[in-house]
Amino acid sequence: MKFSILSDAFGEMEQTRKRTELTGILVRLFEKTPQENIAKIVYMLQGMLRPGFEGVELGIAEKTAKRAIAKSSGAPASEVDRTYKKEGDLGAAAQKVLQSKTQSTLASQEITVERVYETLLKIAGLSGSRSQDLKVRHISSLLNDADATESKFILKLLLRTLRLGIAENTIMDALAAAYAGSKESRPVLEAAYNVSSDLGRVAETVAALGIDGVAAFDLEVNSPIRPMLADRVKSEADALKKMGVSFSAEYKLDGERVQIHIGGGRVKVFSRSNEEITSYYPDIVENIPPLIDAKEAILEGEAVAMTHDMTEFRPFQELMHRRRKYKVSQAVSEYPISVNFFDLLYVDSQSLLDDPYMARRKRLEKIVKHDGDGFSRCIKRVTVTSEDEISEFMEESVAAGCEGLMLKADDSPYQAGARGSHWLKLKREYKENLGDSLDLVVIGGFFGKGKRTGVYGTLLLATYEPDTDTYSSICKVGTGFSDEDLDRLYQILSPKVMLKRDARIQSGMEPDVWFVPELVIEIVTSEITLSPTHLSAMDAVRKGYGMALRFPKFTGRIREEKAAEDASTSEEVITLYRGQVKTAAGDAD
Ligand code: AMP
Repeated sequence: MKFSILSDAFGEMEQTRKRTELTGILVRLFEKTPQENIAKIVYMLQGMLRPGFEGVELGIAEKTAKRAIAKSSGAPASEVDRTYKKEGDLGAAAQKVLQSKTQSTLASQEITVERVYETLLKIAGLSGSRSQDLKVRHISSLLNDADATESKFILKLLLRTLRLGIAENTIMDALAAAYAGSKESRPVLEAAYNVSSDLGRVAETVAALGIDGVAAFDLEVNSPIRPMLADRVKSEADALKKMGVSFSAEYKLDGERVQIHIGGGRVKVFSRSNEEITSYYPDIVENIPPLIDAKEAILEGEAVAMTHDMTEFRPFQELMHRRRKYKVSQAVSEYPISVNFFDLLYVDSQSLLDDPYMARRKRLEKIVKHDGDGFSRCIKRVTVTSEDEISEFMEESVAAGCEGLMLKADDSPYQAGARGSHWLKLKREYKENLGDSLDLVVIGGFFGKGKRTGVYGTLLLATYEPDTDTYSSICKVGTGFSDEDLDRLYQILSPKVMLKRDARIQSGMEPDVWFVPELVIEIVTSEITLSPTHLSAMDAVRKGYGMALRFPKFTGRIREEKAAEDASTSEEVITLYRGQVKTAAGDAD
């Protein structure tokens, strides 16, 4: 398959943000794609080469890209730099530089999707001292045979700047339309994606076997399942209204969600965003299998940092010390954890996803063996039937160092990948009038002054809009940061600086620098207001107005375990705003 078919589609997609048009372009692209290439193309559309949990990192440094452009075009490095500054994007710069050279006379071999994909995969696999030279060689060999537009998109793929604004739902709509007759079949694809976390495999299957092939998808040990998520409620009364007469309440612990797969002689740990994080938790790999009374199992729990005597929970941040490549064993002994199970999705060849929560919980309690060292346990659960019972259990959980409660409908199946009202979270901050907490994406920074010279003193934050795959600004935040936080954030954010605003970022503000929208931090706010400057939830409550947070404060939590797509949405902010208006009206009575 000619790569130009794909790069032309990328070009068309760059010109539009409209979901229906994007879907149309994708349907036409899929119709021209031979079956064996569908998965490759779907991964590339997601900005990846393999499903996320395999950890194949697509990406090169800008320096490497510049060297490859110079090598292929014969242009001096200074010209590549100058064009880059003007264009603000290395892909576009490559297109310009290569266009102005007579590189077409060099083109010798047709460039295909297969060749580009294989080369990108080879580049992703290179490491070590000679790898930079080899990468340059691979890239320039592609650029030598590619035309200017193809070169632009090859570089955008490699630099991960191909931001077409296609949400996964749009890809699934297009797959359903192209291979299953209509968009109506999207839920079947979604269900398969939710249990496999592998959209390439879903695409390949629907292309080869049609919708029936996809309907037969089931979970597999070692393929992460997309996690079930919770809606938030602001009071015990709201919870009762949503849940009915009798339901379960569990402690909501403040750690990292871990999905543990045991089977085939291996243990794998996946994060909430389905990344494999086994290497950070050698203690889970070692200690958990003997504590589980099953040959194969997929369990979910919260890994929580503990005091050395294993009697008290420690703050979430302590856990992040484990997120390092080297000296993991030192981090493991310095920062002990406990694993607190709350769900069982699969056990010995049997999927429990469709079983009611209570049945899964009972099975879980049966297979988690009692552990004298306090390393693992089932999260505490009770049945509640009234506001008072919820309040009482809430007090108990807060006293035990938890964030609040999770409320779960006893008859609900496990809804992989979905946020719904079968699981609700009731957080402590409502009790203590701390305001609402939100997980927001850092999109921009303002340089600090005075004591904060040399770091970003204020950050610009955004909510995520899943439907459009965009980030809309909601506030600036400059309080709540310790000096240590500011240094750490500077280190994390500096490599994310971009010359121009990412096309997915929407903001009426101009920070000193824009960042690739990747980092999520937690803030609390005392009030949500309408704003003409911030664009989150634009027009949702009043035409011409978005939402802004008043007096936002950083809580000290950098949510490294969350992907930007897991950040709070404008939908959540609207719900909080409406709740606030209702409460204010109630107060006035
Ligand atoms: P949030 O990240 O605020 O949306 O809250 C949901 C998260 O709470 C989950 O992803 C888990 O990491 C965590 N959690 C803590 N305790 C529980 C529990 N008992 N059941 C489910 N999730 C829990």
